[in-house]
Amino acid sequence: MRLTPEQRKIEEAYKTARTSGAYDQIWQTVGRCVFCDHDQTQKQHEIYEENGVYMTVPAYAYVDGHLLVIPRRHVRSVKELTPEEWEVMRKLFYLAKKMIREVHGVKGMQIVLKDGVTAQSTVEHLHFHCIPFDAPDLSVWNYRDLAHTPYENAEKYRAKSKKLQKLAKRFGEKYE
Ligand SMILES: [Zn+2]
Repeated sequence: MRLTPEQRKIEEAYKTARTSGAYDQIWQTVGRCVFCDHDQTQKQHEIYEENGVYMTVPAYAYVDGHLLVIPRRHVRSVKELTPEEWEVMRKLFYLAKKMIREVHGVKGMQIVLKDGVTAQSTVEHLHFHCIPFDAPDLSVWNYRDLAHTPYENAEKYRAKSKKLQKLAKRFGEKYE
């Protein structure tokens, strides 16, 4: 696939979009699902597809090697995936990890799923980030002192076991 000089210019601008703040400005004006409504730029980043799930390099990658695994269907959440789609995703995670090592020499990978409205800042179309993990500096957890012991936290969840059972039952009715 060959790029025109204009396309090459656009591609170059992606390299610093995350660090320059350009990304934040761009996102405010998108107003569509970028994973459904593909433009040419996105098509030229795709590298593999199988049974309705594809693997692509994000335009706004966090680091070199970053991949996305995305179902073609516009679904918001893992629970909406068919068993077939989930099975292919499993395979694509494997392929992503192997290829990150092959192409970038990085042996570790973090899979990140941002779920829920406060976490999905941009797109409501399910997508998994497969991020090369060679050092923890890219994604540092801000650990917090716990208000509760592990036992107390387990008790808090167990106290809601009726709710948990109800949700488990509802999942069976809605999504299986
Ligand atoms: Zn979509």
